[in-house]
Amino acid sequence: MAVITNEEINNIRSKANIVDIIGSYLPLTQRGRNYLCVCPFHDDHSPSMSVSEEKQIYKCFACGNTGNVFTFVENYEDVSFLDAVMIVAEKCGISIDKSLIKNNKVVSNKEEFEIMNLAEKFYQNNLKTEFGTTALDYLNKRGISEEFIKEFGIGLSLDNSNTLYNLLLKKKYNVGELLDVGIINQSDDRYYDMFTRRITFPLWDKDGNVVGFSARIYRGEKDTSKYVNSRESKLFKKGETLYNYHRARDFVKLEKSVIVVEGFMDAIRLFVGGVKNVVALQGTALTKEQISLLKKLHSKVILCLDNDSAGENATLSNGEAMIKEGLEVYVIRLSGQKDPDEYVLANGIEAFKNNLVNPMTYFDFKVNYLKKNRDLSNTNDLAVYVNQVLEEVANSKDDILIELTLKKISEEYNLSLEVLKEKVKGLKKVNSHDIKTVKKVNILKKDAYMLSSDKIIYFMLNGGEYIDEYQKKLGFFDDAMHREIANEIIYYYQKNNDINPPDFITYVSDKETIRDNVMQIVSDGIDDDVSIEIMDGYLNRVDKLMIKNEIKKLKIELKNETDANKKIKILDKIAELKKAN
Ligand SMILES: [Zn+2]
Repeated sequence: MAVITNEEINNIRSKANIVDIIGSYLPLTQRGRNYLCVCPFHDDHSPSMSVSEEKQIYKCFACGNTGNVFTFVENYEDVSFLDAVMIVAEKCGISIDKSLIKNNKVVSNKEEFEIMNLAEKFYQNNLKTEFGTTALDYLNKRGISEEFIKEFGIGLSLDNSNTLYNLLLKKKYNVGELLDVGIINQSDDRYYDMFTRRITFPLWDKDGNVVGFSARIYRGEKDTSKYVNSRESKLFKKGETLYNYHRARDFVKLEKSVIVVEGFMDAIRLFVGGVKNVVALQGTALTKEQISLLKKLHSKVILCLDNDSAGENATLSNGEAMIKEGLEVYVIRLSGQKDPDEYVLANGIEAFKNNLVNPMTYFDFKVNYLKKNRDLSNTNDLAVYVNQVLEEVANSKDDILIELTLKKISEEYNLSLEVLKEKVKGLKKVNSHDIKTVKKVNILKKDAYMLSSDKIIYFMLNGGEYIDEYQKKLGFFDDAMHREIANEIIYYYQKNNDINPPDFITYVSDKETIRDNVMQIVSDGIDDDVSIEIMDGYLNRVDKLMIKNEIKKLKIELKNETDANKKIKILDKIAELKKAN
């Protein structure tokens, strides 16, 4: 059902200059014939990404991320390939029918989302009825105005335990579906609403679809828990969402930071006060999925968890986990009230904003944390503390931070700066050794045949004359990978009568088996000149290597052959091949 053709996509690509598009996200500096920038796809400290205007390709020399203009937008904005095409088109002022692309998107769980939307509307409407007066009062007293009740879809579940259930049945949904999305409960053969007598707060997935609810009491009931949350369901996976993520995204881009709080009330409180780049983790420990959501925001993270020892420990473990993933982490520890919600209610939003001006680095937080429960006038305690700090220092890539910290420790505890520096040097060696061994395992070394074959493929992507040259002089690869790519190239050229590396990347973007290899080959060629003479060099080389390989195979055959006549035939073949080589 693809309604936008490859031809149209290639047309958009040819009108979009990759330098302008990447330049609209990141500052670029020209260096020789390419442009350089800091890579947004890994924890980059020096410009590692090269953008070629001539080839319309980008490549990070550190993490290997590479592709054409669409690949960049796809990765940077974390959107689908077609959405990336649309964004690029828009940036170049090309209008395309958006509905075409929407139709092509896979909409899954449509029915389930409809149920959740109906539930949300039902709850919201209850607030406006006579049953909602007390709840509305409660919300207003807590400083949540009509505007934000609407913005956050806050509603009310009624005292009667099957109003929503009956309503949804009337809408032709069946019990199984309602149980599946966790909007009703079952006890024996009786079904009833999951939420009653509570104010409801919708929970969204990363794209802003309602996937569950959190509901709290509001009339001071003592015999029940303060909050009830949706159970895990097909839609609601608690560890895979961050409260307010979809709404905060644009504000994170503006502020270049994302504030992470524990509870959704903290997030709402900050948002209402105008601090809108906030998400809540809805618990204390960040999951792997939540960290990867944060990574996609390409901004620094400010952890502002509860003001208790659980919050402090969570700051440490979450900070550690995020640093490991290459995120830049800062910490705010509030004092006085137990969480950001109460802090703002007691001190006002401006007081909170003051904390944002100069948040401490995660490193400083950790160094302070390590001091806890230690008597640093005691030599043993001091030694343990200093060693732990040095370990931290050794992990840091920031030379200035290292220098300053070591100086501070040396002065504060009267230790020799030289000795401290030596120690860090030693620790760093151990660390970098670890990294090198990992890298070595990851990068499979290509042999001469593979390297030259890569080059031939690269030349073939640069025009029909190179494809002809391949067919005339070689016409075949020994290995399946290059053979398959060459066949795709020939097929593509026959169909389009034109070929270039960035458009071919678009073409293979949904061909999983060859995509990564093609990207790799194209990015390796980012600085290569192309001419028939250079290509002939590689064609000759591969031809010779293939013959050599053939001879090798025949020699093994010869060794295993017992029939004298057949042996002679093999020897003839070998002689012939040797002559040709
Ligand atoms: Zn990179």
